[in-house]
Amino acid sequence: MPGYQAPLRDIRFVLHELLEVGRELAQLPPHLELDDATLDQVLDEGARFASDVLFPLNRSGDREGCRFDPATGDVAAPGGFRHAYRLFVDAGWPSLACDPAFGGQGLPMVLNNALYEMLNSANQAWTMYPGLSHGAYECLSAHGTPAQKALYLPRLVSGEWTGTMCLTEPHCGTDLGLLKTRAVPQADGSYKLSGSKIFISAGEHDLAANIVHLVLARLPDAPAGTKGISLFVVPKFVPDSDGHPGLRNAIRCGAIEHKMGIHGNATCQMNLDDATGWLVGEPDRGLSAMFVMMNAARLGVGMQSLGLTEVAYQNAAAYARERIQGRSLTGAKAADRPADPIIVHPDVRRMLLTARAYAEGGRAFSFHVALMIDRELNHTDPAVRQAASDEVALLTPIVKAFLTDNAWIACSEALQVFGGHGYIADWGMEQYLRDARINMIYEGTNTIQSLDLLARKVLMDNGARMMRFGAKVRAFAEAQRGDPAMAVFIEPLTDLTDKLSKLTMEIGMKAQQNRDEAGAAAVPYLRVAGHWMFAYFFARMAKIAINRIDRNAGDDDFYTAKLAVARFYFARLLPETAMLIRQARSGAGCLMAMDASMF
Ligand SMILES: Cc1cc2nc3c(=O)[nH]c(=O)nc-3n(C[C@H](O)[C@H](O)[C@H](O)COP(=O)(O)OP(=O)(O)OC[C@H]3O[C@@H](n4cnc5c(N)ncnc54)[C@H](O)[C@@H]3O)c2cc1C
Repeated sequence: MPGYQAPLRDIRFVLHELLEVGRELAQLPPHLELDDATLDQVLDEGARFASDVLFPLNRSGDREGCRFDPATGDVAAPGGFRHAYRLFVDAGWPSLACDPAFGGQGLPMVLNNALYEMLNSANQAWTMYPGLSHGAYECLSAHGTPAQKALYLPRLVSGEWTGTMCLTEPHCGTDLGLLKTRAVPQADGSYKLSGSKIFISAGEHDLAANIVHLVLARLPDAPAGTKGISLFVVPKFVPDSDGHPGLRNAIRCGAIEHKMGIHGNATCQMNLDDATGWLVGEPDRGLSAMFVMMNAARLGVGMQSLGLTEVAYQNAAAYARERIQGRSLTGAKAADRPADPIIVHPDVRRMLLTARAYAEGGRAFSFHVALMIDRELNHTDPAVRQAASDEVALLTPIVKAFLTDNAWIACSEALQVFGGHGYIADWGMEQYLRDARINMIYEGTNTIQSLDLLARKVLMDNGARMMRFGAKVRAFAEAQRGDPAMAVFIEPLTDLTDKLSKLTMEIGMKAQQNRDEAGAAAVPYLRVAGHWMFAYFFARMAKIAINRIDRNAGDDDFYTAKLAVARFYFARLLPETAMLIRQARSGAGCLMAMDASMF
């Protein structure tokens, strides 16, 4: 049986010691009153909810899956999910980072992110139900009319209703320009929507009284392609004049998918047959409105993978301390037992440290991005807000793709630590691996994230955003020059900063001649950028650990381990960048040489 204990010590380290969130939040008017103790208290409660309520439902939810009733189109989530959702709502969790004007608690995004890491460790499939609602809340907050906000936001904030995002259709996933769902204007200002959506997460379920679907569709006179897509809000039950769920709308689930993982989350085919909806934002500008939700969801997917990386690591580490096989190469370590625990073997440690480094690096990096969102939303200086917004735009595809690729690696290594026992279902490790796989696909595949980073976020502004982040990295590295203990971190960090800058210029020049060059380089490029982030944050964490150890500040084991993980990261994981840079530089030729008919 797997176990889970929220990594509160490390979460606090990242929030308070690395990011100094107290200092940052003290500059943001909505959070002036917030102190570290309050943040910690919320985290303690969130950890309890994750471990005590959600975690026990993870394996049963996976085994049981969701049930679809073809006669009614209803979907029942696995046993216990509904009750857990009620407890979640009653405790006020959905409102944590929402606007007090709509019933929210107005707490920072960085805290919400930490909460979601824990919820996802405990149960990714369950966490997707409220997770998508938060994206719908953000989208309607940014683009809804005052009436739409008044109607939908308080109910999404309270958790009374949940939300979905309905983009994908059978013939269009990545290329939304192909989408066909139609929206016909009605005399009363509403629209009638018809079409088929597939793969809609939480499209139908029995957790909440109503489901607020955000649907992309085309108006009758819309131009072809992505410039002709509009966004609509289509509730499952059309609210009556008091805002209560009223008439059943003609958006119904036709089937649920049988899939590799996240069995507890209903992945629905949704049919719209003259369903009533209302336009959100400007006609034909739906995709950019939906991007608000997609960006929130991309960070959310990063948190899913961080959660899985952590829980897989914890279980593998516990197993490796218990399982006895063979003797240490340097002599028996448990001479009183017939064999040593497998944690004595260097390669078992490599596997454990890989998963742990991906968890700790991912936590530091993604919490930083969440804090930048708080800055972007709430700083008083517009220039500071703009700089934060640019940084979030640059880093979001890296969080999504790098953390999800890493989780796949980490869960696989953690499974491997169990040997054959990892492959069978009893220990729960194969579920983590199955659940982790979707994170690399939805919310824009990781290839699409890489193209977004390289083509849109880096090359389109001639690397300006990248250089601004590079300036921060260089300033930190410069400040460590006189510290010999930091050399092992600073030299490779500086070297990679230079190499990434050269690589960016080289790909930019090649892509001007041939756009396939960007497509060929994008995936390894993003992974290099991800390692660059991790190297920067691990170097900063190492600095703190060294200082604490030097000052005998207490909690030595924590800082000793932090330093050891940082050293492992630089020695064993960062060198992957040498290969990745060679791959990124190798060009499009070797990929495009064969005619399609030769494959
Ligand atoms: C479990 C699950 C839940 C989901 N939840 C939702 C949801 O809630 N709402 C929703 O709207 N959708 C949802 N999706 C859909 C998901 O977002 C899409 O599956 C995803 O965007 C990819 O689209 P596709 O499957 O059509 O693949 P395709 O777009 O057909 O892509 C196939 C392959 O080609 C690559 N490719 C495509 N275009 C390019 C390009 N231009 N350059 C380089 N490579 C390219 C892709 O990276 C991929 O590897 C979900 C999917 C699943 C499986």
